[in-house]
Amino acid sequence: MKKIAILGSTGSIGTQTLEVVRNHGDLEVTALAAGSNIRRLEEQIREFHPGLVAVWSEEKAKELRLLAADLNVRVVSGMEGLIEVCTCPEAEIVVTAIVGMIGIRPTIAAIEAGKDIALANKETLVTAGHLIMPMAEKYGVQILPVDSEHSAIFQCLNGEQQREIHKILLTASGGPFRGKKRGDLEHVQVEDALRHPNWAMGQKITIDSSTLVNKGLEMMEAKWLFQVDPEHIQIVVQPKSIIHSMVEFVDGAVIAQLGTPDMKLPIQYALYYPHRRDLPGERLDFWKLSEITFEKPDMETFAGLRLAFAAAKAGGSMPTVYNAANELAVSRFLSRKIPYLAIPEIIEWCMAEHKAIPNPSVEEILETERQTHEMIESRW
Ligand code: NDP
Repeated sequence: MKKIAILGSTGSIGTQTLEVVRNHGDLEVTALAAGSNIRRLEEQIREFHPGLVAVWSEEKAKELRLLAADLNVRVVSGMEGLIEVCTCPEAEIVVTAIVGMIGIRPTIAAIEAGKDIALANKETLVTAGHLIMPMAEKYGVQILPVDSEHSAIFQCLNGEQQREIHKILLTASGGPFRGKKRGDLEHVQVEDALRHPNWAMGQKITIDSSTLVNKGLEMMEAKWLFQVDPEHIQIVVQPKSIIHSMVEFVDGAVIAQLGTPDMKLPIQYALYYPHRRDLPGERLDFWKLSEITFEKPDMETFAGLRLAFAAAKAGGSMPTVYNAANELAVSRFLSRKIPYLAIPEIIEWCMAEHKAIPNPSVEEILETERQTHEMIESRW
């Protein structure tokens, strides 16, 4: 039995992780954490019997204690609760499927407690990769990517030498607005941006996919995971999301990982690494598929992607500003307070106002996040 803890168990990745658990008989859930969806958490406790559960607010935790009063589970709350879930002695691997920079402290705590990390929470690596990766090495823990593109790259690198990578070819579907120009995007509504052509995901990442900010975050995530400079990461638009990413080696050979778009594959690969397990569901049929097409991304229309390369180049605390500005801008767009095109505008303005701090500490990263949010609140 492999014992796992899941941060963000009620979300898209969290529930698909539990589906993987349900499909196999040899994974045991020891702890779960979520934000506020206590009804779904209660169902999960009844089905998977974790001994420990964390909810963000103490008020919701109180409600959950009542709902689960007949069960043998301890309910905790707040950041201490998240950290308790990540460090619970039984868990061997922690799935970080929480959304946003709130994942930084729990991920660090899990690494310090010697847990392997199945990492979905890309915002943590984007902002604190320079701290997380050396820490993982120090504590001898594995950071196993859950993001489909990074899992693909990880699979392409099996048995290969990292120093023989020439470049990473990070594929992108192009999102729902592929082929559109800036003028076409002026009146985009929340519903339009939430309509992803290939993947069903949480709201924030779906908006990020439509602006290509998600690809920018993934580029920075890849930089840390595979120790490759952004100049050696090329974004390739591949609209059907069949090729999940590729690696070109120094001799010109390109290795790709292909599959139907199903997040359970990378989740399962991270949980069972280095083994593969059966996964029911649709398979690729190359006779029906007949063609795979490629395009160059439009970084002028999708300025969020261009800004990601600028943030990665500036380094230090600039990726934090990029990410923090995007997180707040997306939440404002989702609550219909700002127009769609204000998302990249806000990111660009915040980056222009910021002087990057080299090698920021966790405290400096969180302070940069706070200042970025304060700046946005003062103007937008
Ligand atoms: P969702 O919005 O679907 O789920 C987010 C989860 O985080 C929910 O369980 C939510 O709980 C929980 N959460 C939010 N705030 C808090 C908090 N303060 N304390 C505790 N838990 C909290 O997101 P996704 O599953 O789509 O994405 C999760 C992460 O995985 C993101 O970083 C995303 O970029 C990454 N990712 C997602 C992919 C996907 O296919 N969805 C693909 C690759 C990466 P609740 O709902 O109960 O409030």
